[in-house]
Amino acid sequence: MEECIFCKIIKGEIPSQKIYEDDDVLAFLDVNPVEKGHTLIITKEHYHTILDIPEELLTKVYAVTKKLTMAISKAFEIEDFNILQNNGIRAGQTVSHYHVHIIPRHREFKLCLGIGPIKTGEELIDHELCNSEIAQLIRKEL
Ligand code: AMP
Ligand code: ZN
Repeated sequence: MEECIFCKIIKGEIPSQKIYEDDDVLAFLDVNPVEKGHTLIITKEHYHTILDIPEELLTKVYAVTKKLTMAISKAFEIEDFNILQNNGIRAGQTVSHYHVHIIPRHREFKLCLGIGPIKTGEELIDHELCNSEIAQLIRKEL
């Protein structure tokens, strides 16, 4: 199997605009940014999704995400960000090496996750895709 592109970046086999590195984590600019400063944080070890990554490492990834978001905020004097993380092909993950996106928001437009019109009141928390049965299904697995 051909090695993944992010593993190659870690090994220095392909170039990247590095921002941060420690023993566990590497951060660099996304080559196809949504916005200026769009940064990816990856684990140095190859994991596919959040299901595979050890909890301790995940905690570290998010500590670094916070640190870098602070730095990007100062660098561009902005306070609006999307922090995104896609898991699996159906979720739009195109590089199968766990990574978090920090997208600083210079411009105002909505990155759309919506599945339908916004409702109000009881309808909002009790419909086909958002109801107590679905909440309970997840809670009982905790
Ligand atoms: P995702 O769709 O969540 O898997 O995101 C993968 C991201 O990796 C995309 O935003 C790509 O632009 C980015 N990407 C792919 N190849 C490279 C590369 N060689 N250097 C930097 N970013 C990359
Ligand atoms: Zn990899």
